[in-house]
Amino acid sequence: MTTTDFQDLVDRYYLPVYRPRGIVLDHGLGSRLWDRDGREYVDFGAGIAVNALGHAHPALVEALTAQAGKLWHTSNVFVSEPPLRLAQALVEAAGFAARVFFCNSGAEANEAAIKLARQWATSRGREPERRVILSFRGSFHGRTLAAVTATAQPKYHAGFEPLPPGFRYSDFNDLAAAEAAMAAGDVCAVLVEPVQGEGGVTPASEAFLHGLRALCDHHDALLMLDEIQCGMGRTGQLFACDGYGVRPDVVTLAKALGGGFPIGAMLVGGRAADALQFGQHGTTFGGNPLATAVAGAALRELSSPALLANVERQSKALRDGLAALEVEFRLFSEIRGRGLMLGAQLRPEHAGQAGAMVDRAIEYGLLMLQAGPDVLRFVPALNIRDADVAEGLARLRATLAGFASD
Ligand SMILES: *Cc1c(COP(=O)(O)O)cnc(C)c1O
Repeated sequence: MTTTDFQDLVDRYYLPVYRPRGIVLDHGLGSRLWDRDGREYVDFGAGIAVNALGHAHPALVEALTAQAGKLWHTSNVFVSEPPLRLAQALVEAAGFAARVFFCNSGAEANEAAIKLARQWATSRGREPERRVILSFRGSFHGRTLAAVTATAQPKYHAGFEPLPPGFRYSDFNDLAAAEAAMAAGDVCAVLVEPVQGEGGVTPASEAFLHGLRALCDHHDALLMLDEIQCGMGRTGQLFACDGYGVRPDVVTLAKALGGGFPIGAMLVGGRAADALQFGQHGTTFGGNPLATAVAGAALRELSSPALLANVERQSKALRDGLAALEVEFRLFSEIRGRGLMLGAQLRPEHAGQAGAMVDRAIEYGLLMLQAGPDVLRFVPALNIRDADVAEGLARLRATLAGFASD
């Protein structure tokens, strides 16, 4: 089969909700990937911030194959060792957490958080109309109906109405607006990404996140951090909230947690750890032994000081490289982000060109992402090496040369 034959099958059999790029990936090693035609790529996208340890990491392959020969699935009707060990490791690694709920994706983790917040408010005697979830413009929380309603971007809502009630939106990084949105005392939880990912790679300001914590304390609401993209070492700390010094009530994880194996988790602090009781929530697959065995191995690697130091080192190399490209080509108005979650905002005269740049990069052997039409997004593996960053930047330079204004 040729690559074109694959494209024909995509067009014929998949729901057309995706527009995959015209290459067929075959295998990977570290931060390099190869397609079926043998062409090699530097990976600055890591499967949307998922393959945090690169491709075919020996510790993950070992954990997966060892568990594959023992036990795949039990359902939550029975106990097995890998999910229990992972729950313990996560609670011990996260200073704020007391209990864990496992699921299979980011959207499910946020769905669990929304349900937990509602039950928590219910248990405090609050009527349905005083169980509002506050989230922020530019956010992304997933595609299930409640998570997409919390996602405060109209393009993800259009045509799906009626959306579930009890959600409110405010401007990101605008503490006064959040204060006003909570003034009525009817907000039971604030859901926020410490670094907005899909919305444009925008970090929350220190004052904003600390201010939200204080507002939640004042109004008896839960502070729920969506660290699905920015957590698990991506910002240079295992949890993004550690870098801010903010103590959340709930943190949701997914993407990098399984290093490429699907898994999500909700970590809950003591204040709300007993909000969901027997029978009030559940999942068939969540926390299955295969996923949690791999995630346990991933967590060990992602917590290592050497890996977190590499995030800082490569973050600086990538930022410096992007800054040099800006001097040369004048395409970026801002380079922002934390750790290995970086965004390059395109100048107004290059607005809307991010998709074309991502397409062109493939021709030069570089996989990268956009965050909307105006931002290039770089979320490589956290163990990426000097040589891969340098080669990726060289290929990015070749790509962007074709877009520079004359
Ligand atoms: C990707 C993402 C989600 C959704 O995760 P899925 O696994 O695609 O459901 C939610 N929140 C954030 C911040 C994300 O980046």
